Amino acid sequence: MAATTTLSIVCPAYQEEDVLPLFHAALAAALEPLAAEYALEILYVDDGSRDRTLEVIRGLAAADPRVRYVSLSRNFGHQAALTAGLDHASGDAVVSLDSDLQHPPALIPTLVARWRAGNDVVLTIRADDVRLSWFKRFSSRLFYKILARFTDLDVRPSASDFRLLSRTALDGLLRLPEAHRYLRGMVQWLGFRVAEVPFSPEARRAGTSKYTLRRMVRFALDGLLSFSPAPVRLAVGAGLAVTALSWAVTSAVALASLSFADSHLALVLVALTGGHTVAAGALLAIGVLGEYAVRIYEQVKGRPVYVLKESTAVVQNPALALP
Ligand code: UDP
Ligand code: MG
Repeated sequence: MAATTTLSIVCPAYQEEDVLPLFHAALAAALEPLAAEYALEILYVDDGSRDRTLEVIRGLAAADPRVRYVSLSRNFGHQAALTAGLDHASGDAVVSLDSDLQHPPALIPTLVARWRAGNDVVLTIRADDVRLSWFKRFSSRLFYKILARFTDLDVRPSASDFRLLSRTALDGLLRLPEAHRYLRGMVQWLGFRVAEVPFSPEARRAGTSKYTLRRMVRFALDGLLSFSPAPVRLAVGAGLAVTALSWAVTSAVALASLSFADSHLALVLVALTGGHTVAAGALLAIGVLGEYAVRIYEQVKGRPVYVLKESTAVVQNPALALP
């Protein structure tokens, strides 16, 4: 009997020529127990790789009829590549995972079981990875603390982009039109019944991490600024605090100058430091506002999140199709 429930697996890949064949083999093995019950679609997203990633994917597609792919016109980044994959997935449920084998494909049947048990969203929670650098672990923990403190989101520290979405949840997600996409937060914002599955991440099997420090900072800013007005409010609070402090210091110095003969130097110093502090604070506040303004600007331009170069995906949304 032909399976009528389709499961899509979405795998973004940027410069992953070395690891993709290994990944695909592991994925195929992990999907084996599901093959009888589900029609499977493996959707690779080539995120504008400049190495042989696209050729490798074409090879996989030629050898395995379950493989489809979309290729982006340039490198748009992990979250955009994931979005492209989700846009083009045809399944009744969609699992997304990295194609560097850090997200174990063997866990997919577990995610599917949790979906069948009635959860629309199945998240995976990464155990603390001792192989990660001290800095990456520390900065990630700090970031999620800040995010939890300043937003209504309860993004679990170490939630990953390895997750399953039911068609209902996915259709909800696809309606969110933000230009700066922080999918972890967006999925959380959606609601639905959520299940969590813990996993221990593997070491990257080949190739290198694409998340440089710069990309990590940008990702963190997207998370914070897309989900919270707190930084602006913080600037207002800081402004009030500096005002109060400067009044206090000015009064203190004015009082002191009454009792000391030569207090000119103190006055000048206070005026200088005070002036510098206020100027620095103002610049900082303008910077914070600017970050929001840039995001509004990006959003208002209404540019698509990615541009397709090539696609063998089943067309989901005619508006996204290549001519
Ligand atoms: N990736 C992508 N576009 C990018 C950067 C990364 O599609 O611009 C993919 C990459 O191929 C991998 C996943 O996103 O499958 C996670 O990236 P990476 O392994 O570099 O991040 P890390 O695991 O180090 O956080
Ligand atoms: Mg990785």
